[in-house]
Amino acid sequence: MMQKPLEVLKEYIRFPSVSTDPAYTEGMIGARKFVTGLLKQLGFTVEVVETDLHPILLADRIGDLAWPHVVIYGHYDVQPADPFALWTDDPFNPIERDNRLYGRGAADNKGPTIVHMAALSRVFEANPNLPLNITYIIEGEEEIGSPSMPKFFDQYAERLSKADFMLVSDTGSPNSEQIVITTALRGLVDLEIKLRGSKSDLHSGIHGGAVYNPNQALMEICASLHKPDGSVNIPGFYDDVVPVLEWEREELKRYPETVESYRALLDVPAFYPANGLNPLEAVRFGPTLEFNGIGGGYQGEGSKTVIPSKAFAKITCRLVANQDPIKIQAQIIDTIKERCPDGVRLTVREGGIAEAYLVVPPDRSNTPDDQPASLARAFKAADSAIASNFGKAPIYLREGGSIPVISDFKKRAGLDALMIGLFTPIDNLHAPDESFSLPLMENAISAFEAIIQEIATGK
Ligand SMILES: [Zn+2]
Repeated sequence: MMQKPLEVLKEYIRFPSVSTDPAYTEGMIGARKFVTGLLKQLGFTVEVVETDLHPILLADRIGDLAWPHVVIYGHYDVQPADPFALWTDDPFNPIERDNRLYGRGAADNKGPTIVHMAALSRVFEANPNLPLNITYIIEGEEEIGSPSMPKFFDQYAERLSKADFMLVSDTGSPNSEQIVITTALRGLVDLEIKLRGSKSDLHSGIHGGAVYNPNQALMEICASLHKPDGSVNIPGFYDDVVPVLEWEREELKRYPETVESYRALLDVPAFYPANGLNPLEAVRFGPTLEFNGIGGGYQGEGSKTVIPSKAFAKITCRLVANQDPIKIQAQIIDTIKERCPDGVRLTVREGGIAEAYLVVPPDRSNTPDDQPASLARAFKAADSAIASNFGKAPIYLREGGSIPVISDFKKRAGLDALMIGLFTPIDNLHAPDESFSLPLMENAISAFEAIIQEIATGK
């Protein structure tokens, strides 16, 4: 039997498991051992899968193979706490204030992990022989982009594919009373274009008029990548986009945010959504092309009459389900090459890509006919458990962010994900004063108890 969940969470947060910084190796080891101990206490067999950096915990509770089988995913690493001066208290010495627990990792992802484990502990106590197979995957490199997961899939995808679906709580909800079940994540394409004209910066009086200024060429290329209506102007970009369905628009209407409250939050003078979507829809249902960084020429005080030799732009796209990131990356590069004038030389750095992910809840107009019964059961169990424990039915929403590992689980092991969001905007993820709502934690434990019980009762 697990101790009081809140005390367990405090102890977990005290291990400073910052994956990106080698100075925190001991914290990583400590967090890993702590989670291993919790899993063993719950009756799991734990395997520590070595990687090039931080090991992955793979734990099983396998009984009869005819039982339903769920994979629970989480991560034991956290973001750095810097800047420490902006924290009210020590980020690794958690403190309770106003019904919240403050500490790095409280919401991302230590709190949700303890929620799942506390629920399992209660269920096993009532029913030690619960007919449910469970595999835990808790990685230590989520905050640095999960670099070891591809190798992990090479080794374990076949074994994982025997499971029915995944349970994940690493997404958000609007507040601690309204839970969102995330039905999609956007994909990503990253690239950088570099233009070079002359061998060095040129005097604009001596050479101006003769050469193609790389800054001008860069601006012309970049400006050509959108149409005046805001849509992306790359042939084929929208070809594979999954349309927004009426039920999705209806779900979004239940989201406790209006276009005006969103505008005030961001403090933009006006929105600029494309393709007939409203701003709240656009961040969830539409693909984008953004200029994340742009540079070239003199950046200092005052002026300098120069024609720069070089210019660059960093570009990323968020993609929606069914858009192939490899294809999109190639389309963008081809388009840029075609639009690049002869007066400058173009090089392209191809950055990382990630596929989007989409899962459709049961009984919707676009639910796949071959949706596994176990997944449908899990969705229904979550729907009623959340409604009864939080007082409001969950909202089913696509999310704008990306969690590449989720689409990898689908692609490599065929597993769909039931993503129940347990952190909220005021939790300050990745920022100073991260916290986790204690009432939400309590309600979530009760909800997950019911969900796990319900999943176990049938295939
Ligand atoms: Zn996370």
